[in-house]
Amino acid sequence: MAKVLIISELTDSCRKIIEEIKKNGIESILSEKTPENILLQIEQYMPDIVLIDTDFENCEIITKQIKSKTIQQNTQILLLLEKDKNIDFLNFADGYISTPVCKNILIHTINSHIKIKKSLEQLGENNRELARSLYQLNVLYNTSSQFAGTLDKDKLYSIMLEALEKTLSFDISCALVFSPAGDNKIFIHSLCEPTESLREALSLRVTLEYKNLFENQPLPYKTNLEGIEIIQKVKPSHIQNIFDLRALNYDSLFAPIKVGDHFFGVIELFRNTPFTKEDVTCFQSIVHQVALPLRSATLYEEIKNTNIKLEKLERLKSDFVSIVSHELRTPLTPINNSLEIVLSGQAGEISDDAKNFINMAKRNVTRLSGIIEDLLDLSRVQTGKLDYKYKITKLTPSLELIQKTFEQVAAEKNINVSLEIEDNLPEVYADSHRIEQIISNLVTNALKFTPKGGSVKISAKVEDESEIDKSLLVMPICKLSGKYIKISVKDTGIGIKKENIPKIFEKFLQIENSLTRNIGGVGLGLSITKQLLDAHLGAIAVISEENKGSDFSFYIPLADEKKMFIMDTNQTFGTGDDSGILHIKEKTNCGFIDEVLKENLIKLSKKSKEFKKDGDYFVLLPDTSISALDFMEKTILDEFKKPVWQNCDIVLKKAHSKKDGKELKKILEKINI
Ligand code: ADP
Repeated sequence: MAKVLIISELTDSCRKIIEEIKKNGIESILSEKTPENILLQIEQYMPDIVLIDTDFENCEIITKQIKSKTIQQNTQILLLLEKDKNIDFLNFADGYISTPVCKNILIHTINSHIKIKKSLEQLGENNRELARSLYQLNVLYNTSSQFAGTLDKDKLYSIMLEALEKTLSFDISCALVFSPAGDNKIFIHSLCEPTESLREALSLRVTLEYKNLFENQPLPYKTNLEGIEIIQKVKPSHIQNIFDLRALNYDSLFAPIKVGDHFFGVIELFRNTPFTKEDVTCFQSIVHQVALPLRSATLYEEIKNTNIKLEKLERLKSDFVSIVSHELRTPLTPINNSLEIVLSGQAGEISDDAKNFINMAKRNVTRLSGIIEDLLDLSRVQTGKLDYKYKITKLTPSLELIQKTFEQVAAEKNINVSLEIEDNLPEVYADSHRIEQIISNLVTNALKFTPKGGSVKISAKVEDESEIDKSLLVMPICKLSGKYIKISVKDTGIGIKKENIPKIFEKFLQIENSLTRNIGGVGLGLSITKQLLDAHLGAIAVISEENKGSDFSFYIPLADEKKMFIMDTNQTFGTGDDSGILHIKEKTNCGFIDEVLKENLIKLSKKSKEFKKDGDYFVLLPDTSISALDFMEKTILDEFKKPVWQNCDIVLKKAHSKKDGKELKKILEKINI
């Protein structure tokens, strides 16, 4: 029932008003006499309307005091005002009733203000709900970006629980979560310590609920519910209280944590106050949101484990190849020496026929040791054990040496090997022995796949990145920039079909044709060539036409060119400290990168001293956007593992602050990007 408090001295007329009001089903009382008592009375009685007689002593002060005291409750203040009387505090009241009082007007005004008060209360409630919804939306928004920032499952669960706590202020939550690895857990989060029996009851309840959910289906993972680990968290500020079994009677929300057919667990929340419809939507939305990153985290874990297994296998294979190759190589030197001795006649005269056979044996020993060297190189490249001796060097002597070396073999096939070198060919920063190996591989192939009477032309010149036809490059590991020495080996041989060109760089791959069958080879030369070029931050391009010939051109950066991998920057990694150890100072906003980088950089940091040798390279880590992920992992991280970086100072730049931004700009200007 609505309540009216009347503040007036004129008790008789007031009584009449009170009676009139009561007649209309509204409760009404007369006030105390002193302002202090009136305020106290209002606090206890909590009237909807206060009717103040303007003739009451200190009416103005009382009106103002009541107004400020009851503003939150929307209490309506009406003044009893003598007709035509002027007062200057009318604004502090919500309305007035003229005296002498007209019954109808009195009741009508009181009813109208009761309605106004109710509407104001409703409005306040709506506003509060709106503010709460806005808050929930805000939390949801922040949570979704937090979810995207990690692939750590435990962290994902704790972000989910934190968001649920913020939006729904639950008293107690219980989540049963699975992992394919079988380490199943129950997380119990609560405002106060739950009793042992409540903990047990909750755990039992979620496991039963989970089983009920999958009544007709096999459980998604092999679960051992008995051996489940229970992880409990109590909010520190409330630990003096205790939750007992009565908490199970609280209002509750329940949801499975799943995406498609992939289930990760179930969660149940309890609250002493009922959940609203909006709460249910918010709950579902948060639980739904966590499922997708959980799926990615699971997949990532699986991929990581598979990779570890594959890496192990690959290492085993490499070790095997390396051991066997070493064992095969050892007897070859004494065989070769013995053949030399027999050929030289030191072991007695031998017939011409015998000489021919021995020469043939020698050629095969040479071929065999070539294959064994290739196998050894391959395993060294793959395990990062190939020892590169980088220095600033000229390539002209290497080119001349190779032309000389192959002259005789070429002459046997009546093939002319020509050499054309641009004047004053600049220096490169390279391991000249490995560059000779690359050229030798290409010339060997050119001679192998060029029929008698053809020609092979070796040429070398400087070319700018802008002149290079990128469409002909075979998957370079880094963006080309600046000037390069281009070395081409062009033949008039059998050529290669366009669709086969990318394949020939795969290890142990040979294109089936009459020549490969007759000539032999194991399909390793180009694979090693590509990897040696990668280690030099170089590139290789192929132009070939069937039955016309092939042109293999490779590029080595000039010695004075500063090379770098350049991508957008939003880095969160620090540079090395004084001892040159690289370490991660902050986290990126992408969990995937965090995981991968952390692992790799920590591995790298162990070698940090080697990084300090020549400050030649800058590495800027890319933006942590999803599109950068593949690129990141494949190029940068694989790249870091390569031996070439052991001679470089790797600078992990951080472009958050203004200062770093400027520094970055300076570097970019210096290298002209
Ligand atoms: P291989 O030891 O068999 O020569 P490579 O890796 O050097 O191995 O070459 C792989 C394959 O690429 C060769 O088997 C051949 O089919 C093709 N190839 C390489 N160079 C040439 C070339 N100059 N002309 C035609 N085909 C070539």
